[in-house]
Amino acid sequence: MLPPLDVFTMLVMTAMVSFSMAGAMAVVRLQEREGMGLWALALMLHGICYVLYALRGHVADWASVVLANTFLSGTFALCLGAVEQFHSRPMPWWRMAVPVAAVALLFAWHIDDYPARMVVAGTMLPLQLALVLGALWRQRTAEPLRGALLLGGCIAVELLLLAGRGWLALAGRLGSTGLLHVSPMQAAVFMLAFISITLASLGFILMARDRADAQNRHYAAHDALTGVANRRTLLQVLERDVARAVRTRESYALLMLDIDHFKRINDTHGHLAGDRVLRHVAQVLQARLRAQDLVGRYGGEEFLILLPGTTLDGAAELAQSLRQALAQNPCRHQGCVIEVTASIGAFGGRLEPGDGWDMLIHCADQALYAAKAAGRDRVQCQELLREPGQTIHAALV
Ligand code: GH3
Ligand code: MG
Ligand code: MG
Repeated sequence: MLPPLDVFTMLVMTAMVSFSMAGAMAVVRLQEREGMGLWALALMLHGICYVLYALRGHVADWASVVLANTFLSGTFALCLGAVEQFHSRPMPWWRMAVPVAAVALLFAWHIDDYPARMVVAGTMLPLQLALVLGALWRQRTAEPLRGALLLGGCIAVELLLLAGRGWLALAGRLGSTGLLHVSPMQAAVFMLAFISITLASLGFILMARDRADAQNRHYAAHDALTGVANRRTLLQVLERDVARAVRTRESYALLMLDIDHFKRINDTHGHLAGDRVLRHVAQVLQARLRAQDLVGRYGGEEFLILLPGTTLDGAAELAQSLRQALAQNPCRHQGCVIEVTASIGAFGGRLEPGDGWDMLIHCADQALYAAKAAGRDRVQCQELLREPGQTIHAALV
């Protein structure tokens, strides 16, 4: 027969893993307000709780029973605070403090009654864990879920086990032998405490990492000033779109927009006002596009708008409405009203094999140049004329 698991060793191991993970998390991320500091504090309390458990019989009962379980309840309260802070929500002080106070009082009251204490632990602690689960599930954004799932899974298992032990105690089937008694239930509870504190902490770290990865992906794909797609994304999407449009023989259109006399705006109102105008233009454009269209900042004050499945006529109509929207919605900056107009070059048509994304940009650029030459604040279109033998002419229309 296999030897029974040694409860004392398990308690010490759980304390040690809590302390070491607390130290690692405190060193790595204490500066950032993502709940990592609170989680490290929770791990510290968890470690102290398990040291006090391990000292059962060697220290006064108020320390090993009342204080230890208050610390365990404090651990779960801090976990709740950490998850709320991770989601940038205010600290739920009452939901954190009341259960801890209740655990302290109830454990002090039942200090000599082990089954009664297990009933308290089997109701109050699962309640606290349910609060953490609730906080975890109220996600703000569509962030990746794997970290939250790992953390939530650990909490759910811990919750069920503690509630199960409480239920056994309530049914009078737990015995009154105490914490260090070797039983399959006790071994399962402590083994799981060891595993779940480790995996739950990894889950929390993973949540922070997933968020950082998502932010980095966003920064790599978007323009830092205006928030629309950056040049890299625009060209990637354009290349993919053009290949698809050639395959499907669908029309494809492209708008190149350049703010008129932008240098004058910078010179008159300052570069901060110029930046504000760039953000304003990006917002006006973004608000008027279909879900499948993409606007991005191509260069300084130039924007590209990719319009899949759009004919040149459709693109010209949209370009006119964007131009009018900009002209009719001046930008407001520090009490100043800054008039903004833009010139737009439109290019579109049915693409054929051999047509490349660079040809599209070149044609839209030529149309834009023509719009500037014709006096600005206007739309100029360029269409492709194909002749037998595939000689291509771009002609202004
Ligand atoms: P046009 O009507 O012919 O387009 O004239 P323009 O003044 O708009 O064009 P020009 O190319 O002469 O000037 C563009 C200016 O855009 C010059 C540059 O300093 C400014 N610029 C480029 N990027 C930024 C930016 O991120 N912020 C600000 N504030 N200005 C920028
Ligand atoms: Mg310009
Ligand atoms: Mg320009």
